[in-house]
Amino acid sequence: MSGRPLLNRRLDGLGTTIFAEMSALALATGAINLGQGFPDTDGPEAIREAAVRALRDGRGNQYPPGMGVPELRTAIVDHQRRFYGLTFDPDTEVLVTAGATEAIAAAMLALLEPGDEVIAFEPFYDSYAASIAMAGGVRVPLTLRAPDFRPDLDALRAAVTPRTRLLLLNSPHNPTGMVLTSDELTAIAELAVERDLLVVTDEVYEHLVFDGEHTPLISLPGMRDRTVSISSAGKTFSFTGWKVGWVTASAPLVAAVRTSKQFLTYVASGPFQYAIAEALRLPDDYYTAFRDDLQTKRDLLADGLTAAGFEVYRPQGTYFITTDIAALGEKDALAFCRALPARCGVVAVPNSVFYDDPDAGRTQVRFAFCKKDDVLQEASGRLQQLAS
Ligand code: PMP
Ligand code: GLN
Repeated sequence: MSGRPLLNRRLDGLGTTIFAEMSALALATGAINLGQGFPDTDGPEAIREAAVRALRDGRGNQYPPGMGVPELRTAIVDHQRRFYGLTFDPDTEVLVTAGATEAIAAAMLALLEPGDEVIAFEPFYDSYAASIAMAGGVRVPLTLRAPDFRPDLDALRAAVTPRTRLLLLNSPHNPTGMVLTSDELTAIAELAVERDLLVVTDEVYEHLVFDGEHTPLISLPGMRDRTVSISSAGKTFSFTGWKVGWVTASAPLVAAVRTSKQFLTYVASGPFQYAIAEALRLPDDYYTAFRDDLQTKRDLLADGLTAAGFEVYRPQGTYFITTDIAALGEKDALAFCRALPARCGVVAVPNSVFYDDPDAGRTQVRFAFCKKDDVLQEASGRLQQLAS
C-alpha cells in the first residue's frame, strides 16, 4: 500500500460524530444520556401500530417509489397547507428522503460545484460540514453568539461573495435553540433575492417552538423558487430511528435533489413511510400537547442546570439547552463532557465541536431534555454535585 491516506482530503478531520462518541460513553458508563438528541419514550402507539400494519400488509416491504409513497407525499402536502398555508404538487414538488440528513447531503451534492461557498450559522449541526465537504463546497460560518445567538445580519450580508451559492439555514436552531424572527427571515429573504442565492432550510424542529413561532422561509416573497425546505418525522413524532424525512420545493429544485438522492439510498423506510403519512394527519391536539410537554421539560431542566451552577441560555425552540460552564470554573467543553460521566453520571455534548472558531464555543455544553421527567430530575440532582 502506498503511504497515501485512506480517507480522502475532503473528509479528513471529520472523524467520528460527537453524538456517536458521547452515546458510546453513556453506554459504557451507564450514565444518563442527555447528549444525543433522541427521546427516551417512543411516539404515539397508534403510529407504531400503523407501521406494524403496513409491514404485515406488505406495504413498503419492497422498494417504494423513488419520490416516496403517494400516501406520504400527499400527507406532507396537506401538512404544509394546514400549518403554513403553502401549496405543493405531491407529484413534482415533494421528495421523501432517509431523514433530513440525506436530504441535506443530497441537496449539497446536487446544487454545489466544487469551490462554491455555503454560508451556515455556527455552531452548526455536524452533518452540514460533512455534506458541504463531500460536495466539494466551501463552508463559510456565520457565528451566533451568546446569550441570544441572534444572527448578525450585517455580517451575513458581508459574508456573501460572488462565489456564494447558497445559504444553509437551521431554525429552530440546533444546538442554541434560537428561532429566527419574522424581521430576520424578511432580511434573509431580501438578501437571497438581491444576490440571487439558493437557500436550503433545515426545519426538523418546526413543531418545537416555545417562544415565537416557526415560519418557513419558503413562504416569504421571492423564496418559493429558490428554497429547498427540509424537515423530518424523527423529532416531531419521536421516531428518530425510522429516518423518514422530506424535501418540499419547486419542481426543478426537487428534480435536482432527487438526481443525487436516488444514488445515495434510492429509497428507504418503506413501511414507515405509510405510518408517518398517518402521523402527519394527527389532530392539532397532538402537536400542541407535544410542544407543551417539551416546554415543561425545558423549564424543568433549565431550572436544574441553573441550580447546578451552569449559565443557562433558555432555548426558544428545539429540545436542547445550551449552557456555559465557565461559571463552574471550567475551561474546555470537550474535556468537561468526556469527564462528566465519571464525575457525576451524566452525558452531555460539547458545542465547541460545532464551531470552526475554536474560541467561540469553548465553554459551551448542550443538554437534551427530550427525556422522562424523573430522568431530568435525577440528572439535575447529579449535576448539582459538581459544585460541591
Ligand atoms: N438537522 C438537525 C438540526 C438535527 O438536529 C438533526 C437530528 N435529528 C437532523 C438534521 C437529522 O435529522 P434526521 O434524523 O431526520 O436525519
Ligand atoms: N440530531 C441529533 C442531535 O443533535 C443527533 C442525530 C445524530 O446522532 N446524527 O443530537
